[in-house]
Amino acid sequence: MTDTTDDLSHFLKDVHWLLDILQNIDVGLVVLDAKFHVALWNQFMQNHSGKAPEHVLGCSLFSIFPELSEDWFRRKAEPVFVLQSATFTTWEQRPHLFRFPHYRPITGSAGHMYQNTTIIPLLDTHGEVEHICLIVYDVTDTAMNKLAQINAHNRLQDLSRVDHLTSLYNRGHWEHCLAQEYKRFDRYQIPCTLVLFDIDHFKVVNDTYGHTVGDEVIRCVSKCLRAQLRETDIAGRYGGEEFGVILTNTSNKGALEFAERLRHSVAAQLITTSTTDVNITISLGVQQLNDNINSTQQWIEGADKALYYCKEHGRNRSHVNEP
Ligand code: GH3
Ligand code: MG
Ligand code: MG
Repeated sequence: MTDTTDDLSHFLKDVHWLLDILQNIDVGLVVLDAKFHVALWNQFMQNHSGKAPEHVLGCSLFSIFPELSEDWFRRKAEPVFVLQSATFTTWEQRPHLFRFPHYRPITGSAGHMYQNTTIIPLLDTHGEVEHICLIVYDVTDTAMNKLAQINAHNRLQDLSRVDHLTSLYNRGHWEHCLAQEYKRFDRYQIPCTLVLFDIDHFKVVNDTYGHTVGDEVIRCVSKCLRAQLRETDIAGRYGGEEFGVILTNTSNKGALEFAERLRHSVAAQLITTSTTDVNITISLGVQQLNDNINSTQQWIEGADKALYYCKEHGRNRSHVNEP
């Protein structure tokens, strides 16, 4: 054999290996021409799509995958032809480019394969880009781990905001919400009113029936409260048997109506606990936010003053703090 045929033979061998690698590598490879017709379709793509090369080669990618948004894909891929630089999509932006099933034997939670995709320009011998290559990575494991982490984080965050006894917001988170609403009023001047309330003679309940019954009473009051709330109201357990409700988009008048409705509903309720039935009442102080209130502390003090007024005037009542 001459040197030239030797070289050619080696070259063909190399190409053969390379093709073998491209076929068997564990990522999806798709070469597309300028009309987005498929010029290469490796084994990974065949295995996961269930479509053999003879059924896709020469066909438009959009006719093979009608669910792939043509507009979006063109916007993503056309700059690769023009600018000759690669582009990427991640599963966080778009969970997958191709909807491939993904069966996970252990968790079974991923219905489809999560994918990262790189689109690279392929230069021809004249330095022109007439083809692009999609490289599709299966990132299902990474995505599932990340999603589980986000889920756990959200659940922990929810737990850290909630009071265990009543499932209302705890004081810390409720005060955070109060500060938010205070700032919102400062900017938009939309009426917002705070209602603080406290169970009347609660020490007597504890002293007579014990703390367990006391706890059940607190839980029952929080249930009455929840039944009166709108979606936008923000209710929290402020202290032992003290509660705070932020009524957004509500003025003193509406808040007083809310307070009276809640007061009647608590008073009318015969609370059945594990050992005894108890009747209790609550007192409620109302304070609408206004321009003379310079801090959340002052806002709370206003409502607390109205609450104190109720305690001084016989309890089982609601009162609005007027300037
Ligand atoms: P008032 O009508 O003036 O409010 O009288 P009160 O007896 O309710 O007085 P106050 O509000 O000051 O008392 C609250 C009591 O609530 C004191 C405390 O022992 C009790 N307490 C606080 N937190 C809890 C709790 O989580 N469970 C129970 N069972 N009792 C609590
Ligand atoms: Mg109290
Ligand atoms: Mg009390």
